[in-house]
Amino acid sequence: MNVQADMVRDVKVDFKGPYKMSVNGQMVGSNETFEVYNPATDDVIANAPNATRAQVDEAVAAAKAAQPAWAALSYDERSAYITAYADALDAHKGEIITLLTTEQGKPRHSMATTEVSYAIFWVREVAKRRLEDEVIEDTPDHVVKVAHTPLGVVGAITPWNFPILLGLWKIAPCLLTGNTMVMKPSPYTPLGTLRFGEIAQQVFPKGVLNIVSGGNDQGVWLTEHPDISKITFTGSTATGKKVMAASASNLKRVTLELGGNDPAILMPDTDYTPLIPTLFDAAYGNSGQWCIAIKRLYVHESIYDNFLKDFVAHAAEKTVGNGMDPNTDLGPIQNKMQFGKLKTLFADVKAQGLSVPLGGEIIEGKGNFVPVTVVDNPPKDSRIVLEEPFGPILPILKWSDLDEVIADANNTDFGLAASVWGPDRAKAIEVANRIEAGTVWVNEIHIHGIDIPFGGHKQSGMGVENGREGLQEFTNTKTYMYAK
Ligand code: NAD
Repeated sequence: MNVQADMVRDVKVDFKGPYKMSVNGQMVGSNETFEVYNPATDDVIANAPNATRAQVDEAVAAAKAAQPAWAALSYDERSAYITAYADALDAHKGEIITLLTTEQGKPRHSMATTEVSYAIFWVREVAKRRLEDEVIEDTPDHVVKVAHTPLGVVGAITPWNFPILLGLWKIAPCLLTGNTMVMKPSPYTPLGTLRFGEIAQQVFPKGVLNIVSGGNDQGVWLTEHPDISKITFTGSTATGKKVMAASASNLKRVTLELGGNDPAILMPDTDYTPLIPTLFDAAYGNSGQWCIAIKRLYVHESIYDNFLKDFVAHAAEKTVGNGMDPNTDLGPIQNKMQFGKLKTLFADVKAQGLSVPLGGEIIEGKGNFVPVTVVDNPPKDSRIVLEEPFGPILPILKWSDLDEVIADANNTDFGLAASVWGPDRAKAIEVANRIEAGTVWVNEIHIHGIDIPFGGHKQSGMGVENGREGLQEFTNTKTYMYAK
């Protein structure tokens, strides 16, 4: 089947605005709008539509009407549409990257390019996956077959830290498995999502992918909607709990990808010098606004002092600035709400008199800029250790007893991811086995894959995205039994 090129209709999208929602294949505005800011300059970039309840209902009705015909297509046919979508996104890649930097803040030449490229790659690769029926019993007089049937209409709610990647992570598997979708991006970063929705309308049949923008209310309307069968949500644990409670109304399935307070443990005798750039990027990438960022770094006492000195020297070289500047390593904090939270955390570090060998002072001015900050061996019960900061500040903690550091690493309601580093691989794996988290890396970090399930333990989430299990979460299990 080679229909992709024909399927992409005339894709001309104006990245300057106005920004419109995708409802039933039409681009629609709203009488009410809200402002979207550039976090590097505080300038208003655009006004985004604030969807009315009637528009959200219309989007759900369109998704519901489109779903049977979409589900009736074969996997290969749906896959061809999704591949065509990847092609159409590719045609606009540069514009999406610029828009991402402008509304989210991350550097255009590094993190923004990586996010958008990876997201498009993801869509293309997911289109190649299949959830085939499985025959689990076949005897002379009996057959048992397990099929994975679509759920219907899926509501998707996304955060502001990786709006393009996390949005497309949801769309591709949802549509591939025969569902239709209504997506609502974060009110802080709606523009890229509205644009990739507009691009989608050039490819998919009307109603298959609908995008509505707004604040939190529109998210609530989706979670309460009786015609939505599942919510796939990425965001904070606090909101995840509300999503789950509201979804109980019609027993919606939920996949929740929530917050984390990921520990990294450096074992004794770790040759840390070559690891410092990796550890820095894993903690401070995207200015720390990353669910799986290293948020607590435990370093064995035998190497602690030298490690701290070398890590701080590396970190001190990094520049914080406007993401459009190619010399910028780390962009601003994405929004004033998060910026305000960080200011309270920085104030607490100061009030506690903690040792801060790098950074520590937020200078007020245009843009939400926060300096690269290292906290040296804070007490275990300090806020900077217990909370998810979601900013470029990292506590580095000295440890001596293995059982104690594992207990400390697990002393959190979160359980998203973790990493263990050391020369004795078997020992490091032993430690990894004792960490309570959905993903634990040993001597590597932040590896993801289309076929690798990703999800949180404890209050970091429910269910997984990616992999066969991630696809299955967009389906009902249906068991057929035939007498022969
Ligand atoms: P948030 O929970 O404030 O918002 C996420 C989304 O939920 C937004 O679109 C928001 O409008 C919507 N929303 C808010 N209230 C709602 C409600 N009552 N019902 C339905 N929807 C509602 O999260 P955020 O601040 O945008 O994102 C940061 C958080 O996301 C961090 O905690 C981070 O760790 C987490 N995160 C997790 C992952 C993961 O994969 N586990 C990935 C990225 C971010």
